[in-house]
Amino acid sequence: MDENSRRNFLKKAGAVTGATFAVGAPAVHVARKYNWRMVTAWPPNSPLLGEGAEMLARLIEEMSGGKLKIRIYGGGELVPPLESFEAVSQGVIEMGHGSSYFWGGKAAAAIFFTAVPFGMTAQQTNGWFYAGGGLELWQEVYAPFNLISMPVANTGVQMGGWFNKEIRTIEDYKGLKMRMPGFGGRVITKAGATVVLSVGSEIYMNMERGVIDAAEWVGPYHDYLMGFHRTAKYYYYPGWQEPSATLELFINRKAFESLTKDLQAVIKTAAYRMNLWILSEFESRNNIYLQKLINAYGVQLKRFPDSVLKALKSHTKDVMDELTSKDPMSKKVYASYSKFQKDVSAWAAVSEIAYNSILGL
Ligand code: CA
Repeated sequence: MDENSRRNFLKKAGAVTGATFAVGAPAVHVARKYNWRMVTAWPPNSPLLGEGAEMLARLIEEMSGGKLKIRIYGGGELVPPLESFEAVSQGVIEMGHGSSYFWGGKAAAAIFFTAVPFGMTAQQTNGWFYAGGGLELWQEVYAPFNLISMPVANTGVQMGGWFNKEIRTIEDYKGLKMRMPGFGGRVITKAGATVVLSVGSEIYMNMERGVIDAAEWVGPYHDYLMGFHRTAKYYYYPGWQEPSATLELFINRKAFESLTKDLQAVIKTAAYRMNLWILSEFESRNNIYLQKLINAYGVQLKRFPDSVLKALKSHTKDVMDELTSKDPMSKKVYASYSKFQKDVSAWAAVSEIAYNSILGL
């Protein structure tokens, strides 16, 4: 059978099959429609993060043919940003968009699903989530809260942060007041810094007023949008504290289970797509904005000295040892994470890292 006749044959077969389906189709039921609410940990209308939540809701509505509509509330509009976990856990709200490290006080192991200092890149973290058991462990950690969760964005490698003084030795962290959440904050506390936790909308003001001396946020694109270059002149790299950071979509388990299987699949598929979209946005824009910060605003780009990174890495080990010795779930999650990291790092040495090193030849 040549190409043409094969195409014709397939076309006819399709037409016949289609007709058979139409004749044999069951009576049409009116599908139930759902109107859900989503709370976010981001300020209302925040670029990219809030935008990602809106795009997710639009995608879910489109893919479900309008059967699942989601109305979004920015942080503070319905509940304060840091109470969204509780609201969804109790089923007051169906879903939330945030970062699992905000919930470290409720479940210590939750922090691993956002970022781990000296941990894995976005590509490696996604490998752990989707193919290395990470996503299953996340469900285990959230099960006592009647929640399920999934990745919905990744920032890629972050920057080390904005400083008004140079970091030459690890001693420079002594007495430094810095905004740094998650495990990173615990690490610099060991180096003598004072961690001041500020939600996104307050960081700029706190930098300007000297409530904090330094702050880390995301990377050049998002940091530029936040205006941090107007509050500090040194911009440090690499972001050892968050070599990738995952944002999450968390859903009340009962609400999720009340959906038909097709709608559950729609949510999962939309979350996958957003995880890739946000990472792609950051990847495509970070260097453009980094150059703009340097060339148009005189920001000084600095690399942390090796001795500082080495000391921070050693403090990271202490933070992990302390946590895993007192919290069995953290021990279980970190064991899985570090084993996966060890394996993918060995592979990276002969793939990504080896490849990058030949580009300069
Ligand atoms: Ca960060």
